[in-house]
Amino acid sequence: MTGITIEQVQKRAEADAKTYGYYLTPNADLLQGLLDGLRINEERYGYPSCPCRLASGNFDFDRDIICPCDYRDPDVLEFGACYCRLYVNKNVYESKDELPTVPERRPLQKQARAFSTAVPPKEEKHDTAAGGEQMVEIMPKVWYCKQCGYMVFRDEPPYICPICKAKKEFFAEMKTRVNFLG
Ligand code: SF4
Repeated sequence: MTGITIEQVQKRAEADAKTYGYYLTPNADLLQGLLDGLRINEERYGYPSCPCRLASGNFDFDRDIICPCDYRDPDVLEFGACYCRLYVNKNVYESKDELPTVPERRPLQKQARAFSTAVPPKEEKHDTAAGGEQMVEIMPKVWYCKQCGYMVFRDEPPYICPICKAKKEFFAEMKTRVNFLG
């Protein structure tokens, strides 16, 4: 437990934005959701991993998505905002440009590895006819955003939809699970 407050998270983000000539998103609801997501992640992992991405819980592995992530600067340069749209450039801040949708820049391999590391194995033991042999199934939940249809595999829905920026409450669980072991 770090005991960090949302105000502290906000001050830190504001100071960082100022240093780099960025702004925090002008969307007040989005801002609060993202700051709260950062606070919760810092409580959970001991570091503020990106609220729009799945962290593995391993500091070294998650280093690239600790906010501000490695991808922020190229994203703001190319799209006017970071992936979560917490940091935006002047044009977006002054609403000259709409809040853009920013594609994921984190390599797929890292996303996949974070997923396999972060998902705690859900072990279901089945007795075989021979008796005693066990089968392990990894069956994460599937969440979808009711606003845009974005789907994600994880135990909990994300704080913010990375595509349409809907809040966590907009996610619903699909009642189908995926067995990664086939
Ligand atoms: S995408 Fe934005 S909010 Fe997420 S870690 Fe990067 S800079 Fe922070």
